[in-house]
Amino acid sequence: RERTLAMIKPDGLSGNYTEKIKEVILESGFDIVKEAVVHLDAERASLFYSEHSGRSFFDSLVMYMTSGPVLAMVLERPDAVLHWRVLIGPTDARKAKISHPNSIRAMCGLDSEKNCVHGSDSPQSAAREISFFFGDVRSD
Ligand code: ATP
Repeated sequence: RERTLAMIKPDGLSGNYTEKIKEVILESGFDIVKEAVVHLDAERASLFYSEHSGRSFFDSLVMYMTSGPVLAMVLERPDAVLHWRVLIGPTDARKAKISHPNSIRAMCGLDSEKNCVHGSDSPQSAAREISFFFGDVRSD
């Protein structure tokens, strides 16, 4: 079994998609191992997305990610990282609605920025992002 970091972004939470997204998560064989509602400030959001710090959309991304609380979750199942990325669909929710109509971003996303959910892109990112939200403890 493997763990990944999933996040319902501010638009997903404020749009009341949380229950629907959790249904999809549980139906897809994940356990929700930990969860926390967190309101990121600009410093924490910039740190989370530091790999994008040089990009043109970075300031807008930080504004978006600090516009309201997020729900961070640790999900566990075999191949969790890849499986969650497949479930959420492409980054641009407009494209997701066309090419992956059953994906989570097709369901609740708006465009290439406001795409309602996040998923770690590798086991290494998952480890970093899980400790970002939950610390390094793996005792459970
Ligand atoms: P995430 O890391 O949130 O799961 P991702 O891996 O699909 O998303 P990245 O390329 O890592 O996408 O971009 C991180 C986030 O930055 C995206 O989820 C989106 O919110 C925002 N973003 C990405 N590309 C753009 C863009 N062209 N314009 C505006 N925002 C963008």
